[in-house]
Amino acid sequence: TKWVYSFGGGLNEGGAGMRNLLGGKGANLAEMASIGLPVPPGFTITTEVCSAYYDNGNAYPTELAEQVASALHRVEKSVGLVFGDASAPLLVSVRSGARVSMPGMMDTVLNLGLNDETVEGLAASSKDERFAWDSYRRFIQMYGSVVMGVPHHRFEDLLEQAKHGLGVTDDTAIKASDWREIVKDYKDVVQKETGKPFPNEPQEQLWGAISAVFGSWMNPRANTYRKLHDIPANWGTAVNVQAMVFGNMGEDCATGVCFTRDPSTGENIFYGEYLVNAQGEDVVAGIRTPQPMSAGRATSDQSPMEKVLPEAYKELMRVRDILERHYRDMQDIEFTVQSNVLYMLQTRSGKRTAAAALKIAIDMAQEGLITQEEAIQRVPPGSLDQLLHPTLDPKAERNLFSRGLPASPGAAAGAIVFTAEEVEDRAAKGEDVILVRIETSPEDVHGMHAARGVLTTRGGMTSHAAVVARGMGRVCVAGAGGITVDYKAQTMTVGNVTLKGGDWITLDGGTGAVYVGKVATIPPTLSGDFSTLMGWADEVRRLRVRANAETPEDAETARRFGAEGIGLSRTEHMFFGPDRIGFVRQMIMSDDPATRKKAIDALLPFQRDDFSQIFRIMSGLPVTIRLLDPPLHEFLPHGETELEEVATALGQSVESLRARRSALSEANPMLGHRGCRLGITYPEIYTMQVRAIIEAAIAVSKETGHAIVPEIMIPLVGVKTELEVTRKAAEAEVAAVFKEQGTTLEYLIGTMIELPRAAITADQIAEVADFFSFGTNDLTQTTLGLSRDDAGSFLPYYVDHGLLPKDPFVSIDREGVGALVRMGAENGRKTKPALKLGVCGEHGGDPDSIAFFESVGLDYVSCSPFRVPVARLAAAQAAL
Ligand code: PEP
Ligand code: MG
Repeated sequence: TKWVYSFGGGLNEGGAGMRNLLGGKGANLAEMASIGLPVPPGFTITTEVCSAYYDNGNAYPTELAEQVASALHRVEKSVGLVFGDASAPLLVSVRSGARVSMPGMMDTVLNLGLNDETVEGLAASSKDERFAWDSYRRFIQMYGSVVMGVPHHRFEDLLEQAKHGLGVTDDTAIKASDWREIVKDYKDVVQKETGKPFPNEPQEQLWGAISAVFGSWMNPRANTYRKLHDIPANWGTAVNVQAMVFGNMGEDCATGVCFTRDPSTGENIFYGEYLVNAQGEDVVAGIRTPQPMSAGRATSDQSPMEKVLPEAYKELMRVRDILERHYRDMQDIEFTVQSNVLYMLQTRSGKRTAAAALKIAIDMAQEGLITQEEAIQRVPPGSLDQLLHPTLDPKAERNLFSRGLPASPGAAAGAIVFTAEEVEDRAAKGEDVILVRIETSPEDVHGMHAARGVLTTRGGMTSHAAVVARGMGRVCVAGAGGITVDYKAQTMTVGNVTLKGGDWITLDGGTGAVYVGKVATIPPTLSGDFSTLMGWADEVRRLRVRANAETPEDAETARRFGAEGIGLSRTEHMFFGPDRIGFVRQMIMSDDPATRKKAIDALLPFQRDDFSQIFRIMSGLPVTIRLLDPPLHEFLPHGETELEEVATALGQSVESLRARRSALSEANPMLGHRGCRLGITYPEIYTMQVRAIIEAAIAVSKETGHAIVPEIMIPLVGVKTELEVTRKAAEAEVAAVFKEQGTTLEYLIGTMIELPRAAITADQIAEVADFFSFGTNDLTQTTLGLSRDDAGSFLPYYVDHGLLPKDPFVSIDREGVGALVRMGAENGRKTKPALKLGVCGEHGGDPDSIAFFESVGLDYVSCSPFRVPVARLAAAQAAL
């Protein structure tokens, strides 16, 4: 078996495609060398050795020693030095390199091969005694800590003492003779800490370092990291052994790390840091201040590499170009300059912010480095959220109060307010406020709208607060169970920290963090690149993207973000306006149909006006309006004053109303008197809504010339007969309106599929439905028997401990809920092959779920307005 692969110096046995065998670092070193870039020669011991090592009780394959020896010999020949040679020694670096970069493992040992004899040889051959002894002490320090386990600070402490004794502050002020003394002290520390002498024999050093890399693959930190990131233990790590080049051999030497483009903005400028006369870790260790690469990015007191080492810089720019052309992506590179000659030590795809990912993808497509389709795939859809909302200023100080679920992205700061009414009052005065509730209900919607952000202590990712806040683009942290809210005392508490109403907090809806006080935020900026990418995405996607919206403001936002219609308008949110809620309460509380009809008739003009506004804004794009869904109790008058108001309006006693209120209260409202059940037992409500929709559609069609085709949607259907009855009543009302107005228009009546029974019997339901829209929120709730509003208290545990791969209210549970969606779609189309199918649960804005809906063949997804761009991009990626 071949266990060792050479690179550099004219022999490249590996390449970028061999990442699994050679690890990321080894594969790319071979690749760089094979395209002619200056890479010091070396070899990679494969990941298979790591696996074999663990399979065989920490023993190496028998051929390994021989293969390492011959690869090392080749390196010696290639650079003209001999490992362990006392007059001019070859030194090597030993580095780990798994398939993916993995913190927690042994990283790097430099200058390996130095001992009391070879150090003299290095001093002689480099004609620099100070450099040789500095290199030696670095080696002991690194090898001593990472291989032999001596606490790193033991060396640091010694060095500090020495500097103190010498009266110097900078490492560079330490002379060769002083380093000699420090080396002695270092070795004594190793002996004291480990009970063993520091190994003098280069071969022993080499195998010690190799074993330390393989040993670190299974150390607890690496194991934890692997668990967190789903990296299988049997992948193993590779070990790279490479001839040293020195960035610390004088003023014409340097070392640096950089990105081929700016990783935070994406700007096409060489970005990074370097240090003259320094080695490896110095750049990140913070001992000296690293300097910028390009002169354009340097201030007058800085020394950019472009000026200080112009030749090497020019060479690096050439390499940068070659790398980007070759890898067709922004690279994160490490280099060393030895006596003005450039050497490449690493390259990999660079990590970047959302804004940079977008800019780099568009720029590279326009530069011809990648195709448009590749550009589409280079931007993670979820990251667009970062671009559409304000975010916390990364430089701002923060003081964490507690954490909840990241329910709606963006960052917002404001004064704590505990009721929706107070939010409205204070917001009207221009104050920034955050609504804090244990949980929210439709009643709070107006307050949520006026607030900068919403914080709840109960409820999950599809709790009322989460869904509504996302819809409005309000920041929301939901289900922050560590916080105790006391409405009476107007306080909220975590441990011994108590905040009062009026105190400021800051929410980060992207992470779920809640901070004490005001943390500075930075506003979003939408570049031209954003619309370019959206345009490209629209060219390739098959799925249509609609928005969930019920207010004119949301509808406008939805259109601005490119929604192709409205997939869900939740009419219950229209019932809470201060001018309407009185009539809604009279409607519910009245016990005879005639009084109820009066209250409902009073609501008609409001609804007609609501729908007209939406139709106008959507100018002929499809609009799905869902008839009233939530349980009646949500509209009940709570306080005594409210009860009295309703009593007066209805001419009834407060006593009788109180009795009616308790009669209407339900033990399990989510499974109670809601959705079409309400429309069936109180048909006047749906009839009024149907009339309002049709009258509005006729009026706006006339007014604007757009042929409006309203889509009337019936919620919570489980049995075909429910839809049959509701549909018949609706059709009768539509016919009545047509007759009154002496005109007709096209309209559709469809249903939500949000109960398992509806999905299973979709073939029957399709007989009376013009379209289906999967309500995956309720379908998840009912399929898993998992309450949308209560799951927050235990669901995070399930996800943290791997019982569920993801929160099923965020990303569709493909095997369970997803199977029902597939079944519903297939069964529905068995009856009506052209049945229009959509989804309007929160999953309609989740990239993973969108990929699934594409595979099921749905016609559209519908999501919160701010998720529309995310969905457009995700739909495009799903189609490619
Ligand atoms: C659903 O259940 O998925 C849905 C869209 O309806 P709601 O969230 O209003 O219950
Ligand atoms: Mg629902």
